[in-house]
Amino acid sequence: MTTKIIHFTVNGAQETAELEPDCSAADVKDVFWAAAEAEPDHILKLYSVDGVVLNISPLLEANSRDSSYRLEVVASDPKSVGMPNELEAMEHRLQQLEGRVLGEAGQPRGAVCDLTSQVESFKKKLESVKHLSWMGLFKEDGDHQLEASRKTSSSPMSAQQEHQQVRRKFLNMSSLQVTEEVREHLKTPTFDNWQWEEAEMLVLLQVIFTDLDFLTAFHIRLDVLQNFLFQVFCHYNNIPFHNFRHCFCVTQMMYGLIWLTDLKSKVSRMDLLVMLTSALCHDLDHPGYNNVFQINAQTDLALRYNDISPLENHHCAVAFGIMAQPECNILKNLSSDQYKHIRGGMIRCILATDMARHNEILHKFKSIQPVFNFTNREHKEVLMKIMMKVSDISNEARPMAVAEPWLDCLLQEFFNQSDTEKLKGLPVASFMDRDKVSKPSSQTGFIRFVLLPLFTEITKLFPCLEEHILEPVRRALDFYSDLERASKQEEEEGRSSSAGAAGAALL
Ligand code: 5GP
Ligand code: MN
Repeated sequence: MTTKIIHFTVNGAQETAELEPDCSAADVKDVFWAAAEAEPDHILKLYSVDGVVLNISPLLEANSRDSSYRLEVVASDPKSVGMPNELEAMEHRLQQLEGRVLGEAGQPRGAVCDLTSQVESFKKKLESVKHLSWMGLFKEDGDHQLEASRKTSSSPMSAQQEHQQVRRKFLNMSSLQVTEEVREHLKTPTFDNWQWEEAEMLVLLQVIFTDLDFLTAFHIRLDVLQNFLFQVFCHYNNIPFHNFRHCFCVTQMMYGLIWLTDLKSKVSRMDLLVMLTSALCHDLDHPGYNNVFQINAQTDLALRYNDISPLENHHCAVAFGIMAQPECNILKNLSSDQYKHIRGGMIRCILATDMARHNEILHKFKSIQPVFNFTNREHKEVLMKIMMKVSDISNEARPMAVAEPWLDCLLQEFFNQSDTEKLKGLPVASFMDRDKVSKPSSQTGFIRFVLLPLFTEITKLFPCLEEHILEPVRRALDFYSDLERASKQEEEEGRSSSAGAAGAALL
């Protein structure tokens, strides 16, 4: 291994850093903190050219001056970000409290123990989750221990090595190995995503793109498509919900809808390419914290996009950042008019996935649906947005065994966010609060007020979708309503029996 040269800019100045092969995480940290003239408790973020946050560690990839990274001090006053200091302050308060309770009662009370272990496990999480390294608590060793404990093998692998292994597997697997049965199943909403590992999902995505004849129609070389798909995979984070598997599901649902509605005969192939590529890219580099968090915490993304759909703007910018590399650019052989059409379409489709715009887009579709005309450009553009939205939130249209684990993933991501919000003193939405939400309560409202109105409207245009997406969603509503009723009843019975017991104790 040789010395790595890292080119980066800081405060507008061009700098280089030399990383020796055996340098430690602390050495690397020292170099960047010194270059930014930062204090040890300052928080630094390093960005790649396409705005992706990089981990400041010995694994940092060497680059050229043309692809300089950008180093920023994101908080010069630790109080403005608050996290590490808040944790320290909380730990200190807990220690004092524990000391007092111990002094009074001889041993800490349950609530104090619970709180202590919650703070401890939250701290561990911040120390081990790589994409939260910008908070300044991440420990390289901690991450390795976590990854090693997840594997049976004794030698831990870096994320980059894991990605390369997926790439090798993907390229070694031929799409010819995908049976006719799987290809047919891939066209339906009943497809079970949980059966496939990452490399296999990449092969299935390649099948989707080749099956729609995109390679011949748009002169896309197979190796360029494969590089593009692999980069898309690499730019999804390892988080509970908004990960590469979610990207696969949304793309596969879009593909299923295209088949079920025979959209090939109604819109151009270029629009089909827009829809599938948008589905693939629609959540790229999602950090696991939603727009409300970005805005309330005044994150870098919120600042960059002036609080206007910061995440969706970022997903789209990352997509075009990937395609800015010629070896990944599936659009490179298109005319400039075709490129403009596809870029405009993708921006519209990806920005439409911001749920803050749900009512605006649904109302627009409702107003044109009775007179819908496929040759009307405006009508078609609204339909493309609606199909993106349907695919994006279609988990409950899948068989219960496929849909239910997704709800666990979503709630895990929600709880992570609300835990962080509580620690930072930010507002917490009740639908994300582990103390207020349950699986049934989360789904009944979402299905009644979001899914059914949206799915009913698209079914009016495509009646064949009733059995494929509307019926399963109605069944899911029945299932979760029954569960909700049963748990309320149990709660009431519990209350009345404890009231009875209290009454008996008084007698
Ligand atoms: P996305 O973030 O995936 O682009 O947009 C979809 C958003 O809709 C999710 O972040 C989540 O807030 C919400 N959502 C999607 N599926 C479900 C679901 O099954 N249940 C609930 N309660 N919310 C969902
Ligand atoms: Mn999504």
